[in-house]
Amino acid sequence: MAADSTARGDAHRTQQRTSHHNPVYVIGGGPGGLAVAHALRARGIRAVVLEKSGSVGASWRGHYDRLRLHTTRKLSSLPGLTIPRAYGRWVRRDDVVRYLEQYAEHHKLEIITGVEVSRVERASDAVPVHGASDGHWVLRATGGRELTGSAVVIATGYNHTPYLPDWPGSSRYQGELRHAGTYRNATPYAGKDVLVVGAGNTGAEIAVDLAQGGAARVRLAVRTVPHILRRATLGWPAQRSGILCRRLPTRLVDRLARRIARMSVPDLAAYGLPRPDTGLYTRVRQGAIPIQDVGLIDAVRAGQVEPVAAVSSFEESKVVLADGSVIAPDVVIAATGYRRGLEGLVGHLGVLDEQGHPVARGPRSPRDATGLYFTGYTNPISGMLRELARDANRIARAIARASR
Ligand SMILES: Cc1cc2nc3c(=O)[nH]c(=O)nc-3n(C[C@H](O)[C@H](O)[C@H](O)COP(=O)(O)OP(=O)(O)OC[C@H]3O[C@@H](n4cnc5c(N)ncnc54)[C@H](O)[C@@H]3O)c2cc1C
Repeated sequence: MAADSTARGDAHRTQQRTSHHNPVYVIGGGPGGLAVAHALRARGIRAVVLEKSGSVGASWRGHYDRLRLHTTRKLSSLPGLTIPRAYGRWVRRDDVVRYLEQYAEHHKLEIITGVEVSRVERASDAVPVHGASDGHWVLRATGGRELTGSAVVIATGYNHTPYLPDWPGSSRYQGELRHAGTYRNATPYAGKDVLVVGAGNTGAEIAVDLAQGGAARVRLAVRTVPHILRRATLGWPAQRSGILCRRLPTRLVDRLARRIARMSVPDLAAYGLPRPDTGLYTRVRQGAIPIQDVGLIDAVRAGQVEPVAAVSSFEESKVVLADGSVIAPDVVIAATGYRRGLEGLVGHLGVLDEQGHPVARGPRSPRDATGLYFTGYTNPISGMLRELARDANRIARAIARASR
């Protein structure tokens, strides 16, 4: 709210200067893009959101049915509109979608759906394009569109492109192998033997959903033993600890987390999930977010979800695990993550590192790419929605400053 009133103060000054310029284009109508668009508009800067699907919040519409935010309602709101109290502390997927629709409506955001941007170019490189001279960036989009923007904010999502490891033999596998991104609910798997691969939050929750939803057998293939946290302990959400931890030394957080885990999470070693030997925060720094328990602990203890070794390869109708065992599930669901998928869009600009992540994020543009911003390309322990909200204001402030 404080940021919003600062924005109103900036708005009048900026209005005159931006109205003659090309708009700022925001690529992606998820929470990150919508938040930036609002923060810009609040500063009097015209922002146009380009969304490839038919509506805002496309990623959330595609998530599995039982998903709820594991960050609290209060700490997940975007700037300028709080998530309604009626949605509860742990907001359901459908309510997240409803909130994003309300957000776009409430702030009267300018959104063009059905437009996929395929490439962003420096205006100086993109000749001959009408109107490119007074803008800094040219966007190539669906239907041969060429759009010129005074700045561009890329918000196409951390979970952009489903990633399936190139397991030996997987191309000849005759069983059903699908990415977790296609999973909606347990109904199609009733009575089936399912192997879920990957013990992150998504894999853990899908395994529980399958076990509770009537699958005959559920195994969870674990490559690296995960840290497991209670979503809240005595009413204190894990997310708040995540926010506090960001300012503390890694080793201290690792020690504290180990103690808390011993007090709040039972030892699951007998079931194939020993306590991890690397610290929780050390892992976070390497990019691994702990599992927020939404039923895995109970399901493992009840034998409804069986942890097994990582997948090492596939045979025609079998799966070979890293401990040498060979199993024959009916279905394999790979909860093996996503890639950012930014190469086609901006790879030619030299703004990505070896992992395909932007070299600068938030209010900083990459070197030699002034006016190009990225939001949502980290996976913070403090909650991504919270960080998207904070980044939105920072990016809008940077753009407003640059346009004066
Ligand atoms: C299963 C799951 C649960 C999560 N739970 C939480 C949680 O509890 N709390 C939390 O804080 N965070 C959570 N997150 C993380 C994060 O908040 C969400 O992923 C969030 O949706 C990220 O917002 P975004 O706007 O960056 O990306 P997205 O929501 O993915 O939005 C990107 C948008 O860009 C569009 N797009 C992509 N490419 C183009 C293109 N070339 N041209 C035009 N449009 C394009 C897409 O259609 C999409 O609408 C979760 C993530 C997942 C996957």
